[in-house]
Amino acid sequence: MESDTILKIALAGPLRGYFDYLPPEHDGITLTPGCRFEIPFGRSSRVGILISTSSKSSVPTSKLKRALSQLDHTPLLQPSDLRLLKWAADYYEHPLGDVIFHALPLNLRKKPTATKTSQPGLRLTQAGEALDPDTLSRAPKQRSVIVALQQHPQGLLAKRRLMQNHELSPAVLRSLLDKGLITPCELPPQPLTSDAAHQLNPQQQLAVDTVRKELDGFQAYLLNGVTGSGKTEVYLHLVADVLAQERQALILVPEIGLTPQLLQRFQQRMGHEVAVLHSGLADGEREKVWHAMRQMRQRVLIGTRSAVFTPMPNLGLIIVDEEHDLSYKQQEGFRYHARDISLVRAQQTGCPVVLGSATPSLESLRNVQESRYRQLDLPKRAANASMPSLSLIDIRNGHLKGGLSPALLKHLEQTLQTGEQAMLFLNRRGYAPMLTCHACGWLTDCPRCDARMTHHRQQRLLWCHHCGHQQKEPAVCPSCGSPDLVPVGQGTERVEEVLQQHFPNYPLARIDRDSTSRKGSLEKLLKQVHSGSIPLLIGTQMIAKGHHFPAVTLVAILDVDQGLFGADFRASERMAQLILQVAGRAGRAERPGRVMIQTRHPDHPLMQLLTQQGYAAFAELAMQERQMAMLPPYAHQALIRAEANRTDYPELFLKQLLEGCQHIQYAAALEFWGPVPAPMERRAGRTRAHLLIQSNQRLPLHRWLSQAIEIFPTLPHARKVRWSVDVDPQEML
Ligand code: ADP
Ligand code: ZN
Ligand code: ZN
Repeated sequence: MESDTILKIALAGPLRGYFDYLPPEHDGITLTPGCRFEIPFGRSSRVGILISTSSKSSVPTSKLKRALSQLDHTPLLQPSDLRLLKWAADYYEHPLGDVIFHALPLNLRKKPTATKTSQPGLRLTQAGEALDPDTLSRAPKQRSVIVALQQHPQGLLAKRRLMQNHELSPAVLRSLLDKGLITPCELPPQPLTSDAAHQLNPQQQLAVDTVRKELDGFQAYLLNGVTGSGKTEVYLHLVADVLAQERQALILVPEIGLTPQLLQRFQQRMGHEVAVLHSGLADGEREKVWHAMRQMRQRVLIGTRSAVFTPMPNLGLIIVDEEHDLSYKQQEGFRYHARDISLVRAQQTGCPVVLGSATPSLESLRNVQESRYRQLDLPKRAANASMPSLSLIDIRNGHLKGGLSPALLKHLEQTLQTGEQAMLFLNRRGYAPMLTCHACGWLTDCPRCDARMTHHRQQRLLWCHHCGHQQKEPAVCPSCGSPDLVPVGQGTERVEEVLQQHFPNYPLARIDRDSTSRKGSLEKLLKQVHSGSIPLLIGTQMIAKGHHFPAVTLVAILDVDQGLFGADFRASERMAQLILQVAGRAGRAERPGRVMIQTRHPDHPLMQLLTQQGYAAFAELAMQERQMAMLPPYAHQALIRAEANRTDYPELFLKQLLEGCQHIQYAAALEFWGPVPAPMERRAGRTRAHLLIQSNQRLPLHRWLSQAIEIFPTLPHARKVRWSVDVDPQEML
């Protein structure tokens, strides 16, 4: 112990390896890995995390600096947490320090500041209780707060229940506080509301029993269940089992805002055991949840991607809902895949992991084929709903009206007339993907990208969705001065306009990022759709997932053809998943649903299979195609990206890389594709190039990478480009 006094400290940032320090001078230092230290760094100080202690350093002891102070005396991360993070750092070839700091809530990545002990709730004072609300009739907002609190004597959450529900500004609450009518308070934990569990149907029961039998060891399951088949119900039963064993459960979901019902059902059944982590939370909230899990004060965590790293010392089950969803892959910096991490985590922990989907990724289906995962099937919808029927509308010769075919308009009309709801899906926001000049052919090219700027008519903007560049919509053609500027193609805004013209008597909601950018507006719109007061709905992928709209009987998918011929080999898989996801919103209650897909390629074999025989048949053909082309999941890939302001540097760097790493022993087992320009060569003013590396086996690829990554920084142009490594890339952008 005496001699092991050199601290190996990991730091956030791009630097690989550890930094050596001596312990701080004062007493009471505990050198347990997983504790944070403040250390001198350059001319300032930083926060680092202790990985290990050692007696050796490559720096002479006389030159080692002392850490300034110890920030935690009990480790924030346990050896098991560090083990998972080390695995992830190795696998994704990302610096360990950066991986560790990624897993910490923002507040813990910096030096501690005095935190205010904020009181989350508000209740009435005695004066407030005695007050007749009508005396506040000239301050209606204040009055509504008093009325709400008089109905809830134990208090209400200030932020959520009061401010959001009543659309208050902080000033309203402040003036009530100043008048001594209300006071901050701690709220008691929410009581368990009873939402009775469903009696499972035989398939659900089989799935639950299968997993239940082996809760004590690692096993991966693919819960392959059509939309509405009761997957969530299976999760609920399994999590209840895990809670009964006093253990913790982690549930990953693609996006919290888009799966309000899953969250609600867990909260209803398990009340205060349930905590939620997602990017919309304030830093303080995230930190609170993180500690609650780490200290086992709460036991069910529902979270998005990065929640997979939350310390849960008594983890007994991991669930990954919609396992095929692209949002599980982080697309910048530390490019991990949360589903794949969750598998390793379950394995290291020795607990089951359940991957649920109606449209499993081909990777997961391959793992079933190879007997690495066990498949559980829910082939039918739970309750009494039947599966929607899918049909294609051929739009090759039709006269489209703002993207809508006459056939579709007719079906919409019928649906609306019978008092049912219709939902249209178009994954493109804005008015039109571009404007063109009729006189000279000018187009709204983005000045910084190889892409067009989208016309946002309501905001009078041209807006590049790739780099964020915005400019005012031009009144006349900037090139020839002609006023004859016309939109090409359509986005949700334009479809909304056409629908309004066509069905003026039916209320209509548009749900996309533009229409829901104000806080709370998405919830409000969804509520209205749920209540049935809005029969017509147009939206982007924000309406594709998770929602249960009981009265929707017609779902129309306006344009997914690019999925059939996309540059990315995963394009058709994504298209199929999206179609079925959207289709899954139809006919979820008693009335059967119909799904109409507009296409210019009704004869395409993948489209035919998908609509006539379903996802399993589609997936089988898609798998055969991948196998013949030797693409994932039959091969393993890593993508090296480089970008720079100078147009020639990225390819130059990748050429140097190829040459500089060819002597590595494993290179012979790999295929190198490129360097080539990226599919969108210029983005945000920078030129981009790719080098794709592929192998039939994982091992040589990883061995090569782990040696090559040491060489990259030494290449002549390494500092002149921005380079990154993407292991198992999901998008070739
Ligand atoms: P999924 O997660 O597969 O989309 P859900 O669990 O949300 O499916 O179930 C779809 C609907 O069916 C929900 O309204 C749910 O309450 C209901 N449901 C699920 N299981 C049962 C069951 N065994 N009996 C009756 N209704 C069920
Ligand atoms: Zn012009
Ligand atoms: Zn751009």
